[in-house]
Amino acid sequence: MSKKVLIVGGVAGGASAAARLRRLDESAEIIMFERDEYISFANCGLPYYIGETIKEREKLLVQTPESMKSRFNIDVRINSEVIGVDTNKKVVMVRSKEKGEYQESYDYIVLSPGARAIKPTIDGINSKRIFTLRNIPDTDNIKAYVDKKGINRAVVIGGGFVGVEMAENLKDRGLEVTLVEAAPHIMAPFDSDMVVLVEKELADNGVGVILNDGVKAFKDNESSIEITLNSGTKLTTDLVILAIGVFPDTGFLKDSEIKLGAKGHILVNEKMETSAANIFAVGDAIEVVDFVNKQNTAIPLAGPANKQGRIAADNIAGLSTSYKGTQGTSILKVFGLTAASTGNNERTLQRVNIPYKVITIHPSSHASYYPGSFTMTLKLIFNEDGKILGAQGIGYAGVDKRIDVIATVIRLGGTVTDLTELELCYAPPFSSAKDPVNMAGYVAENVLAGRVDVITAEESLANNQGNSLLLDVRTEDEFKNGHLEGAVNIPLDSLRGRIGELDKSKEILEYCQIGLRGYVASRILTQNGFKVKNIDGGYKCALMLDFKPTRVDNSGNTQRTTSIDSDTQVVKSEVETGVNNYDKSLDACGLCCPGPLIQVKASIDQLNDGQILKVTASDPGFYEDIKAWCTRTNNELVDIGRDKGMIFALIRKGNKFNGQTNSFSSDTMLKDKKTMVVFSGELDKALASFIIANGAVAMGKKVTMFFTFWGLNILRKPEKIFVKKSLIESMFGFMMPRGSKKLKLSKMNMMGMGGKMIRMIMKNKNINSLEELIKSALDSGVEIVACSMTMDLMGLKQEELIDGVKIGGVGYYLGEAEESNVNLFI
Ligand code: FAD
Repeated sequence: MSKKVLIVGGVAGGASAAARLRRLDESAEIIMFERDEYISFANCGLPYYIGETIKEREKLLVQTPESMKSRFNIDVRINSEVIGVDTNKKVVMVRSKEKGEYQESYDYIVLSPGARAIKPTIDGINSKRIFTLRNIPDTDNIKAYVDKKGINRAVVIGGGFVGVEMAENLKDRGLEVTLVEAAPHIMAPFDSDMVVLVEKELADNGVGVILNDGVKAFKDNESSIEITLNSGTKLTTDLVILAIGVFPDTGFLKDSEIKLGAKGHILVNEKMETSAANIFAVGDAIEVVDFVNKQNTAIPLAGPANKQGRIAADNIAGLSTSYKGTQGTSILKVFGLTAASTGNNERTLQRVNIPYKVITIHPSSHASYYPGSFTMTLKLIFNEDGKILGAQGIGYAGVDKRIDVIATVIRLGGTVTDLTELELCYAPPFSSAKDPVNMAGYVAENVLAGRVDVITAEESLANNQGNSLLLDVRTEDEFKNGHLEGAVNIPLDSLRGRIGELDKSKEILEYCQIGLRGYVASRILTQNGFKVKNIDGGYKCALMLDFKPTRVDNSGNTQRTTSIDSDTQVVKSEVETGVNNYDKSLDACGLCCPGPLIQVKASIDQLNDGQILKVTASDPGFYEDIKAWCTRTNNELVDIGRDKGMIFALIRKGNKFNGQTNSFSSDTMLKDKKTMVVFSGELDKALASFIIANGAVAMGKKVTMFFTFWGLNILRKPEKIFVKKSLIESMFGFMMPRGSKKLKLSKMNMMGMGGKMIRMIMKNKNINSLEELIKSALDSGVEIVACSMTMDLMGLKQEELIDGVKIGGVGYYLGEAEESNVNLFI
């Protein structure tokens, strides 16, 4: 005999169950009840239709009642609400727009009624200017309202997935948008140290973010609505999107025998069976088991709803299939940024008392030398046995696949060692030979093996008192561009030589930019008997702790920054702003630090005071670097922004506050020069010298490089120059390398192969060659002085040296060195 199966709810879980059941059982009678007019629509696409990324409304409608009938022979009854279930009589009560109330008998039921948006009972909540978003009619209402003339401002209440997606999409429509969140941070699946990156992306894209402040009341005015927050802050806006969460839509089951949880979710076993015989339930309306911590919870996501629908159908059809729990793997697009997570975060683990360890890394989305790579932040949470409990990733590219890989390993019960062993696809445009997932595994393994002791940035700032020393192992330039308060700077490469400066009785909390050099430093220090902790994620993570999102002034009469075609309702073009007025543009994309800064310096030098340079760069560090650079060089950062990971900056030459230019007063210069004796003629040392020189001059420092002995060979012209020389001088000249291209590496030269390899790697990584660095140094005003005495000794003549080199004696060099605060011997 054929089974009669009723499905309640015709979208994610319901439609999935119905289609699967038909594929398994051609003879079943399947009736689907849907309260609204639409079935099987793309809930997840709704915000993007409002934002007009999805242009055609039909594309949201995955199936229609007609297509469900013709393809799957399903009797779809729209505008039909199930208002009760009588398990004794084995019937459901239906209220239909067309047929009125009636009963329908069943052999089996699949309940997939989903959830409703929470609407708290606060003053003014029923205003026509307040909207929630759950289905197609909600979408149509919001879109029609946004399309109206005079709608310029929106306030989104609630910083969950829907709230953040709506904030972005309304901003895309040209509205001034403020996001209000009652909790200390938005996006609950992320820990606060990670989610600040999302908050920053919102702020960087002009969305005002108000945290830690809930809504007290709404009040309609004549042409707007006023929101009073708990803090007393008042916001005036044209439109409110209320997205503070959902509750299970299970009111119609209250009088049935189907057991509900404390918050109204339907309780099911792993076969998706409810407490009532032959009744299954799936989707947002049910309680699930958290796959990681095994506690009951509710996780409203489309993937689980679809899987559960399929499993319910399997079990009705006689296949014994079970659901093992929900991991909460989810992803969000926020303007250019991707934020994804899987498993438990720190907050959840603390709540359920599960001990854990954390590491945070900042790997590149793909080989950094291949254009278009972006740094991501990847956080891995695992236990003492290495079992992975959760992961969070945020970045401009490649985040989704890393979180998906880790989600897979979690699902298979894997460990951090499994991450190190994964063999993942690699070619430079896609990844690195050690994928970020492998890297996360390596770092976690090091922590578990006790090779490095990590401390979070937050803990380190709290702990940094009395008996600890904060050590910054980045370069001097990086340190000067910004560092943690109270930190001492000993760059990693000079740490072994300067180790005696550190006090062994103190615990050392050390950091680099992203954690990698910090790890090397911690190995050096630990093996030298120091007690060391590496600050997880480095300066980059610590810096984000200070981030406070902006609030927008919401009181004025804002106009849209985009215009809308009144016929098509399509957003036309950006309204011209001052952003497009500049005197010179610079494309520094693909260059790694300090490349973009060097180019900025060179371009600014060509401008007159008051003129504006527009820079585009892809190095993620440039966003902070350029701010610090402008402050230090007395230039004005007029504007800075990001678009899909590209950074745009507008810099006005000279200082806006006092009209000074970026040229330093002689007083400042006197105390702030950098000098260098370049004694070695080896390629690697020459490179290091010019990288430092270019970095220093880019920071506005006067730099003098004094070349002596073998160092002079770096400055030789490559071609033979005919000058009068004695026999010995000629022989000497013949034996020594002629110019920068002939230099050998100090180590691993391998008959010149090493030098060629390093040049090739530098080229691939977009790092300037030695010749380009020399030219850049000369162009930026680095003073290159050839030692007259050694030139004489080696029989070198000025004509044999590259243009722009000065000849000077030791006296000149010593005079410069006395006026400098950094003097290197290379
Ligand atoms: P739904 O898909 O909501 O379907 C329930 C249906 O049941 C509704 O159509 C309702 O009208 C009907 N119904 C309710 N009660 C009755 C009744 N008594 N009788 C008859 N019919 C009834 N999840 C993701 O994983 N990724 C995303 O990007 C994402 N984006 C989202 C964006 C938005 C704007 C929204 C609203 C949700 C989003 N979700 C996303 C969540 C996802 O859509 C849900 O988890 C999923 O749809 C749940 O499926 P469900 O079948 O339980 O409920």
